[in-house]
Amino acid sequence: MAEKLQNLVVVTPARVVFTDEVRMVSARSVAGDLGILPDHAPLITTLKTDVVRIQKDGRWRHMAVSNGFMEAKNNRVVILADAAEMAEEIDSDRARRAKERAEERLRSKASEIDLVRAEAALLRAMARLKAIDMAGSGRH
Ligand code: ATP
Repeated sequence: MAEKLQNLVVVTPARVVFTDEVRMVSARSVAGDLGILPDHAPLITTLKTDVVRIQKDGRWRHMAVSNGFMEAKNNRVVILADAAEMAEEIDSDRARRAKERAEERLRSKASEIDLVRAEAALLRAMARLKAIDMAGSGRH
């Protein structure tokens, strides 16, 4: 029997990053790790800036999601985020440069607001590098 699927949509202000029927969505929320399978209880949560993993036909795909919310309801998962990229879309050099810039800013005696921004930029860059790494290593 074919496995039951659910719809996943990932949207940013710039574009629809992903839309497809999938088996499982695995994400890190502020309250802990979540694995959403079809017929999951309704939920709405804030995501950590990290990797969201998507499973379909036994294959995993990886997406970096920055500053996102996730809602699951009636076999539809919606992620709204400031930015999101599939691993294969991510420019690793750009992410590495962004990480170095953020680390440099954190080392400097910048104002508090700059430090908060640098921390957020560092998390975005680290999530992007992690998505590439997970996709490339065959890890789930
Ligand atoms: P940078 O300093 O390199 O611009 P950033 O974290 O400040 O990185 P964002 O503001 O999060 O970038 O994103 C701006 C746009 O650029 C978004 O559409 C995002 O998807 C895209 N983007 C950011 N970094 C990368 C990357 N390394 N590879 C591909 N797209 C990226």
